[in-house]
Amino acid sequence: MQERMVIVGASLAGLRAAQAARKAGHEGPLTLVGGEVHLPYDRPPLSKAYLEAGEQAPETPTFRTEDELRDELDMELMLGTWATGLDGERKIVTVCDSEGETRELEYGSLIIATGAAARTLPDADKLSGVHTLRTLDDAKSIRDALDAGARTVVVGAGFIGSEVASGARKRGLDVTVLEALPVPLVRSVGEAMGHACAKLHEAHGTDLRTGVKVTGLQGEDGKVTGVSLDDGSTVPADLVVVGTGVAPNTEWLAESGIQLHERDKGIVCDETLCVGLDGVYAAGDVVHFPHPLFDGTLLRLEHWTNAAEQGTLAAKNALNPAEAKPAKSVPYFWSDWYDSRIQFVGIPSADEIRVVSEELGEENFLGLYRTGDRITGCITIDRPTQIMKYRRMIAQSKSWTDALEFAGVS
Ligand SMILES: Cc1cc2nc3c(=O)[nH]c(=O)nc-3n(C[C@H](O)[C@H](O)[C@H](O)COP(=O)(O)OP(=O)(O)OC[C@H]3O[C@@H](n4cnc5c(N)ncnc54)[C@H](O)[C@@H]3O)c2cc1C
Repeated sequence: MQERMVIVGASLAGLRAAQAARKAGHEGPLTLVGGEVHLPYDRPPLSKAYLEAGEQAPETPTFRTEDELRDELDMELMLGTWATGLDGERKIVTVCDSEGETRELEYGSLIIATGAAARTLPDADKLSGVHTLRTLDDAKSIRDALDAGARTVVVGAGFIGSEVASGARKRGLDVTVLEALPVPLVRSVGEAMGHACAKLHEAHGTDLRTGVKVTGLQGEDGKVTGVSLDDGSTVPADLVVVGTGVAPNTEWLAESGIQLHERDKGIVCDETLCVGLDGVYAAGDVVHFPHPLFDGTLLRLEHWTNAAEQGTLAAKNALNPAEAKPAKSVPYFWSDWYDSRIQFVGIPSADEIRVVSEELGEENFLGLYRTGDRITGCITIDRPTQIMKYRRMIAQSKSWTDALEFAGVS
């Protein structure tokens, strides 16, 4: 009998790990532990289609029904159950269920896919009407507020905040986005590209205020009424969505001996996603890993495709460590704002960023990123098929000259 594989985190990376384990021939017991009570569900729709207006409540974007999960994967599903500790020497994960009962799970291999949780503002939990958007329950609350016609203020002009702003504007609601940086998304896509994304807000009537500092929340009778800024002004609000980033879910690993990143406490893995304990691998938003295509730079990605691919790889590597493969696919994400699709491949730090579409006199945005003499990134707005060609070029370490030639500039 093969030993038990335990997967902690019942979301995208965790589910993909379970599927890959069975596909790779793991016939032993398989246990999926998830803190949320919901079946594994897809997060991207939560800030997009799920927020759209409509009489009928949108369907929960669940990946599989419970029966399908049990039939397809023959696994023990422990939902509403949190992992609270890991003993890598005894190969035991301690879990605690919603009744407060603890249990020790023995594993032969373990996949950690606990993702990340949204950061929020101090005192946000003291007022109703203030939300982050990470979970299905968050999305339900935000949708209810939008249904009620809330004046919406989004704190942070990142991707998720911007998608919420788009959703609210599509319903014709007043929306203000407050961003501390002078240009949104500089760290994710660079300055020129951040400007291009900001223009989408302006074109759709969202009041984007950059370089502003939020100092607190205002409320009456326990309900939010506005957001205070450091110039003494207040932006009135019935709904405040805080989109100021996420923190990896690793508190439960504090005593495990696993190396946690000094900046954000994400798990530092090697290139095969091994965390440095026998049989333990990690995947998805929780992971920092050295990327071989970018000189071993440690990356922590918050991208759907990365979580799916790493979940699969982590399980395969855990089952066959002697032939473990590195995680090396080119990062990719998309984001939908208003009627536009932003897509990005590669990494944003670069020696040079060129707005190629401007040089070509074309309306739909195309930007290329150069590091040394190679193409290392590409961003497009509304060029859905082209981006994958650049993804392949980056994977093949194509030269900058090749990329410019392909784009039609020199
Ligand atoms: C609203 C929203 C929209 C998005 N849109 C896009 C998009 O358009 N494009 C894109 O590329 N990406 C998008 N993403 C990002 C993408 O969804 C994530 O990269 C992906 O969900 C990461 O998957 P994961 O399995 O690593 O982690 P998560 O999805 O964060 O799941 C981790 C799970 O582990 C559970 N957990 C945490 N700690 C414990 C514990 N101790 N014990 C048990 N369970 C635990 C959590 O409750 C959670 O259910 C979006 C994310 C959100 C939130």
